[in-house]
Amino acid sequence: MHKSLILCITLSIVILLTACSGNVSSQPTAIPAPSATPVAQVTPTTLPSQTPTPTTPPTPTTLPTSTSTPTPTPSPTPTFTPTPTPQPTETPTATPSPTLPPNTMGSVLVLEYHMVKEPEDRWQRTPDNFRADIERLHRLGYSPANIIDLTLGFPDLPAGRKPIVFTFDDSDISQFRYLEDGSIDLDSAVGILYDFHLKHPEDWPLKSTLYVLQDVNVPERVLFGQKDLQDFKLQWLVENGFEVASHTISHFNLTAGSDEEVQWQLAVSQRQLEARLPGYDVRSLSIPFGNYPANESLLAQGVWDDQPYTYAGAVMVAGGAGPSPHSADFNPYRIPRVQALQSELDYWLGYFEENPQFYYVSAGP
Ligand SMILES: [Zn+2]
Repeated sequence: MHKSLILCITLSIVILLTACSGNVSSQPTAIPAPSATPVAQVTPTTLPSQTPTPTTPPTPTTLPTSTSTPTPTPSPTPTFTPTPTPQPTETPTATPSPTLPPNTMGSVLVLEYHMVKEPEDRWQRTPDNFRADIERLHRLGYSPANIIDLTLGFPDLPAGRKPIVFTFDDSDISQFRYLEDGSIDLDSAVGILYDFHLKHPEDWPLKSTLYVLQDVNVPERVLFGQKDLQDFKLQWLVENGFEVASHTISHFNLTAGSDEEVQWQLAVSQRQLEARLPGYDVRSLSIPFGNYPANESLLAQGVWDDQPYTYAGAVMVAGGAGPSPHSADFNPYRIPRVQALQSELDYWLGYFEENPQFYYVSAGP
């Protein structure tokens, strides 16, 4: 197990170093500024590099074997009642533990997806494989949550449930597509999650966090493509329980940016999304390329054009399982993720299947 962990850490670092490279060729064009201040003054002059050179790779703050995972306290055991699978075609293999004691100091998995389409590749998962991921996680007793729920300590997660957070970066059309007949494409990621939710409404809430881009030179990655449907899609997502969040305006390399450029990306991406989503607060951020700004405090708050912004959390591009949000090791601005590669999923899901005592289990609201 020790060697496996070292291998995993190594793999995570390699993944980090190659993360997103070539994925989005960002050419930020002028975004209409919300005020009279000319955008040209703050439009990034340094384009994100095609081959980003990350600084020090973030080390996972907690590994599941670390001593920070305490033994669950023998408090009253809430009843965990997995909903019987109503679909006769589903394979009822591994049965979730009938009861799970709360373990609110356990580790949490945040999964990182990019495109969901054929064929399986470094940055894309096939629709069938994504469906299989969901079925596997459901079978293992996981329950979807959003990043903002994680940063708040899973306030709504029923007792006995194990949270799993799906995240999707880059707002590719394959994540959320409408067909010509007006229906959601059930081979797009949102369609697959929606379909599964309809079949398992009791224990599969409609949740996941989508980190969107607003101005890149790949039209299919600007707010899920389908230009006429952008607002409609964003509103549908938040009305149905998903979290819409920022991946900056242009997949900007925050490490290369000045404080002003960083604040422009974070403030304007939030402001423009919230303008499209009246009453909704954009609360979290996915760091493009995993490249953190020199002034990391600008992630939590900053100002642009005299208007302040705040973010409650930020996700990295790698790192493995993360610490509990109730742990002293938890840094909401460095939330580690597991990339949705078959090998990574097999490793981490297998690990927690063998060592369930290390995984987070809700004690209830
Ligand atoms: Zn990205």
